[in-house]
Amino acid sequence: MRCVFCRIAAREVPAEVVYEDDRVIAFLDINPLNPGHTLVVPKVHVERLSDLPAELCGPLLGAASRLARAAREALGAAGVNLVVNDGRAAGQAVPHLHLHLVPRFPGDGGRSLHSLLPVRHGLDLPEIARKLRDGISPR
Ligand code: AMP
Ligand code: ZN
Repeated sequence: MRCVFCRIAAREVPAEVVYEDDRVIAFLDINPLNPGHTLVVPKVHVERLSDLPAELCGPLLGAASRLARAAREALGAAGVNLVVNDGRAAGQAVPHLHLHLVPRFPGDGGRSLHSLLPVRHGLDLPEIARKLRDGISPR
């Protein structure tokens, strides 16, 4: 059985679709954190951000960018958070890559990314940066 987001993309499961093209579909989250909370989803089934083919990165982020503007202009949002829960350790529950676009409104009680975890003082930043530089692979 295909995953629920594949089934939404195939229009086998109903959703409040707000944007669609040949590679991307976006629909309202059924458990919205704010009005307009939208999931921006590649139609192809990939689980992790790093699984997404490079040629789909632009279309996915481009759709999110247009929806961020719509959240401001059509819903009156003052800002948005764009979040990927990438992997179970990061809180991913649905194993099909999705960008959460959460419109933000003054006084909505939410905070920023920096409320997810406390700041870690004393990390060896040069060593961590070296590992990442060495570990990054060409696409
Ligand atoms: P996560 O995998 O933790 O990043 O979040 C998955 C999100 O998908 C949750 O916010 C759910 O509310 C949402 N969700 C799960 N099933 C559906 C569905 N059928 N339609 C819309 N949103 C869904
Ligand atoms: Zn899927």
